[in-house]
Amino acid sequence: MIIYGSEIAKNIKADIKSRVDEIVASGKRKPCLCVILVGDDPASISYVKGKEKACAEIGFASKMITLPQETSEEELLDIVRECNNDDNIDGILVQLPLPKHINAHNIIINIDPNKDVDGLHPLNVAKLYQSQDGFVPCTPQGVMQILKQANVSLAGKHVVVIGRSHLVGSPVARLLLNENATVTMCHSYTQDLSSITKLADILVVCVGKPRMITKEYVKEGAVVIDVGVNRDENGKLCGDVDFENVKEKCSLITPVPKGVGPMTICMLLVNTLKAYEGRING
Ligand code: NAP
Repeated sequence: MIIYGSEIAKNIKADIKSRVDEIVASGKRKPCLCVILVGDDPASISYVKGKEKACAEIGFASKMITLPQETSEEELLDIVRECNNDDNIDGILVQLPLPKHINAHNIIINIDPNKDVDGLHPLNVAKLYQSQDGFVPCTPQGVMQILKQANVSLAGKHVVVIGRSHLVGSPVARLLLNENATVTMCHSYTQDLSSITKLADILVVCVGKPRMITKEYVKEGAVVIDVGVNRDENGKLCGDVDFENVKEKCSLITPVPKGVGPMTICMLLVNTLKAYEGRING
């Protein structure tokens, strides 16, 4: 069975839109997401446009701040602080990667943790690792939603996560552990990768290598979640999993596109609504 994140995202967005309609009908202002983009990287521009469009579709306000490539770290920090102090902004997202002359960590630690809808501020990271309520990064949260909506039970299951980045692999592994899965994390130093992945009831792949995972890596009947977004040698969008090669062997699999990707923006909207409600409810 193929699990389409795009369909799950559609339902969640419809729920958020209803909630926004209620908010607006009650005379309150709309939730507002502010996205800050530095430079003109085409992929980043397209991601930012996607976020602006998603906000418009569900009735959020959005503010897009576009800054030139040569913006200094201090100038960007000033803008982040202005957004922190702006009562009409609920969520702040600084589009990554930033130009090399800007230290992304310095920027992230200066975002108000209550507006950190990307879930990357150290306070929110700590909350995740202490199982407290905070902002969880969007892609890992999207993976968890897909598993939940597909009724995949996690407690006691062996989940293998390939990839340990701060953005995806590590938080997804922690979320799975918080749901009582037995989690094995693999990375570029892992030896005999397939001997480990073949033990997985659930395989979450966030490795960033086009179609690297073939059926030799997958146990019969496993659930396979493909987080990867890559271009193959022909420029075609593809995941980290060789979908055609693997699909017959799995019980459930996410495609690329229309799998985890649409869930990421959707979870950003969920986090922005949460930030808004947290702020208006004090
Ligand atoms: P990343 O920072 O490059 O991390 C890749 C991870 O894979 C690292 O932990 C690396 O290990 C590991 N790795 C690399 N080669 C390996 C190998 N041969 N065997 C085992 N592990 C290996 O990438 P990321 O930011 O986590 O993103 C991963 C993928 O998800 C990318 O395709 C990205 O485009 C995609 N992504 C998708 C979304 C979405 O919305 N769907 C969002 C974010 C990212 P080391 O730690 O040892 O280097």
